Amino acid sequence: MEKQFDAIWINAVMATCEQGYGLIQEAAIAVKEGTIAWLGAMNALPGKPDALADQVYDVKGYCLTPGLIDCHTHLIYAGNRASEFEMRLQGVSYEEIARRGGGIQSTVRATRQASFETLLQASLKRARALLASGVTTVEIKSGYGLDWDTELKILRVAKRIEELLPMTVCTTFLGAHTIPVEYREAPDAYVDLVCEEMIPKVAREKLASAVDVFCEKIAFNLQQTERVFKTAKQHGLAVKCHSEQLSDSGSASLAAAYQALSVDHLEHISEAGIKAIAQSGTVAVLLPGAYYFLREKAQPPVELLRQHRVPMAIATDCNPGTSPLLSLLIALNMACTLFRLTPEEALTGVTRYAAKALGLHKQGTLTLGNYADFAVWEAAHPAELAYYIGGNPLRQLVKRGKIVDSKAGA
Ligand SMILES: [Zn+2]
Repeated sequence: MEKQFDAIWINAVMATCEQGYGLIQEAAIAVKEGTIAWLGAMNALPGKPDALADQVYDVKGYCLTPGLIDCHTHLIYAGNRASEFEMRLQGVSYEEIARRGGGIQSTVRATRQASFETLLQASLKRARALLASGVTTVEIKSGYGLDWDTELKILRVAKRIEELLPMTVCTTFLGAHTIPVEYREAPDAYVDLVCEEMIPKVAREKLASAVDVFCEKIAFNLQQTERVFKTAKQHGLAVKCHSEQLSDSGSASLAAAYQALSVDHLEHISEAGIKAIAQSGTVAVLLPGAYYFLREKAQPPVELLRQHRVPMAIATDCNPGTSPLLSLLIALNMACTLFRLTPEEALTGVTRYAAKALGLHKQGTLTLGNYADFAVWEAAHPAELAYYIGGNPLRQLVKRGKIVDSKAGA
């Protein structure tokens, strides 16, 4: 006779992340057809585990959490900027590096030149590194092409990664990342291109579910940002914003007016901006890797975000220039050490609220009916995930009810 469940995990310290940790001691979780079919205290199971499922896994008191969600990355790019990092430490200024063709433009050049296959192989390595530390869903932004062919190539590489790895990939179109060299004298003409040609194609070909803008003095101003938001909304796409990272431009309030899924960075957000995103239900995505790598001084106002009950998410911001960070677990630690989040807030920030930042339902928490994406950690308590620096306590990763092969996609 067919058993009630496909597989069941028993003896877990389970953090459902539904509200705070949502801890259940001596817990069990059962899976049927890739979704969570039962969860709770083991002694409430409707029968003996091996009568309920053919596959029974004894977690032996280890911690079981939702699969982690990295809700902000730029992991598809060619080349890297290690030589610039070295030059900066030898005392060469940003301006001089830019004059020598460095900075974001060097990544754009390399990414434009790279073949699909070269770009895929370089990016797969980074996606695998995230997977190996418990990430079952990743957001990937375009934005190192800044011309249609390359933006399209990046978004297609992202879709290919989703086919090759047991990860959900959410794609975001970030054509408005920076003004490409060829438009330096006519930035509005580039915004025309993004709004009139690129976003309609992205929507038509379903290449991304959201559109992001880098609103900053060195990138796009408020008016340009609003044009992109308006166009995205007209085409049925959600909006996100690289917001208030280096200065307070008012972009968080603007994003809130467009019901942005998230505003990201926020080192310089004002209280008015915080009130606006609290009202619109927009997630504040904090990116401690960039803060660390750039040795920023201003911290995001975490206490004010708390007071206004703004949901906070944490992400790697994996990118070659300002956050070459390949571990979401290290981002958790940094969120606690640098931004003073509690380990509970940090874990919620890479599960429940990271899902919200991507507009995803059915994942981010261990809840009946959600996708069976979860991780078993060699840890007795979930606080250990934010505690270690550079360890990887992952024991087992489950994606849609199936155990992920540790060499997946290799
Ligand atoms: Zn970013």
